[in-house]
Amino acid sequence: MNDTQKFDVIIVGGAMVGSALACALADSGLKIALLEKHQPTPYAQEQAMDLRVSAISIASQQLLEQAGAWPTIMTMRSAPYRYLETWEGNHSNLIFDSQEMGRKHLGHIIENRLIQLAFWQQLSTLDNVEIIVGDSVTNMQSVMDGYQMRVGERELHCKLLVGADGANSSVREMANIGITAWDYAQHAMLININTTAAQQNKTWQQFHASGPRAFLPLSGHKASLVWYDSPKRIKQLANMSKEQLKQQIIECFPDRIGEFDVEASGSFPLTRRHAQQYFKPNLCLVGDAAHTINPLAGQGVNLGFKDVAVLSQTIKQAIEEGQCWWHIDTLAKYQQQRRPDNLLMQGAMDLFYLTFSNNNVGLRLIRNSALKLAEKTNWGKNKVMKYAMGL
Ligand SMILES: Cc1cc2nc3c(=O)[nH]c(=O)nc-3n(C[C@H](O)[C@H](O)[C@H](O)COP(=O)(O)OP(=O)(O)OC[C@H]3O[C@@H](n4cnc5c(N)ncnc54)[C@H](O)[C@@H]3O)c2cc1C
Repeated sequence: MNDTQKFDVIIVGGAMVGSALACALADSGLKIALLEKHQPTPYAQEQAMDLRVSAISIASQQLLEQAGAWPTIMTMRSAPYRYLETWEGNHSNLIFDSQEMGRKHLGHIIENRLIQLAFWQQLSTLDNVEIIVGDSVTNMQSVMDGYQMRVGERELHCKLLVGADGANSSVREMANIGITAWDYAQHAMLININTTAAQQNKTWQQFHASGPRAFLPLSGHKASLVWYDSPKRIKQLANMSKEQLKQQIIECFPDRIGEFDVEASGSFPLTRRHAQQYFKPNLCLVGDAAHTINPLAGQGVNLGFKDVAVLSQTIKQAIEEGQCWWHIDTLAKYQQQRRPDNLLMQGAMDLFYLTFSNNNVGLRLIRNSALKLAEKTNWGKNKVMKYAMGL
């Protein structure tokens, strides 16, 4: 007896990008399974803020709105920001204001888990999507008409397998898709603080040769600090008590934070990866499984959501036109649109990283002049803002 369960699409990885894809594809009527290792902790108002937060662009907000997930996020926690300020020396502040673009906000800072929960809530209302949590995926293999795998006690089959399983994607590895990768010479420390100041509507980043130091407002009297520095320095900071870390922040961050206490902190290595191809027959990659970038401009998941928008539209268009939606030509169209864009953003972030991560006097002068010039020319500023908003 053959008790293999058939799906059209199996998505491995149900965090922000995988669950966004399941939502975006759901109205096509395809039968979808979303596999996720970990059950996300449900939301409760009194919970401490998660360390992992993302700056969500206007374009990503639109994707969340279309998926029906945005109202759920709004009932939980988020911090809209109107301004983005960046500077290096004392007189080179570059300020972006969303109102110059006729918008109320540049974006929102939202906890990653809450974005995932909002998608999952939407998915729980759909008959054609099954979320399978906790069971390990084994024996993933290409078969004649798709992919087959064992998930816990079940045997599953799909026409299209999607790897949304993050930077160390096992789908990518199983499919033998190579990557170009390197480690940045900086790690990042995320620090959640309680502030006496009320909720801010500005996010800012100060560049230093050792790495940027950034402030992201969170909901209420809270904020997330991001401290980029050498792996050695970040390790040293990670071993400090909250009080010692607070003293270091007072010494090293601008004093505009005001009074604060450290609530929690954690550190992360920074790696750049890019899959050499985003698809193979019956298989494709999205989000961090396909690309990771330096997070200094907060673009990682926003790129992942753009992957989702393009892949879901390409598949739905193929269905409408009566074509084979999982055919390699459909997947090639997705890669054609997304890979160059992701590569461009990776390159731009690397240029920032390399230009600002050194103390060369000449380069510093050029950097500061460039920032001052950018502040004075609205055309350049508006272009950057449009790109940051994903518009
Ligand atoms: C310090 C830092 C700050 C950042 N800040 C921002 C920001 O401000 N804005 C922004 O846009 N991006 C930011 N990013 C990037 C962003 O966090 C990532 O791009 C995003 O989390 C990627 O989402 P994803 O769903 O593709 O992958 P992941 O979040 O890595 O999720 C992968 C999921 O797959 C699951 N999984 C893995 N293997 C399996 C398996 N075999 N079976 C089942 N499930 C599996 C995992 O449990 C996980 O839930 C930041 C990154 C870092 C490191």
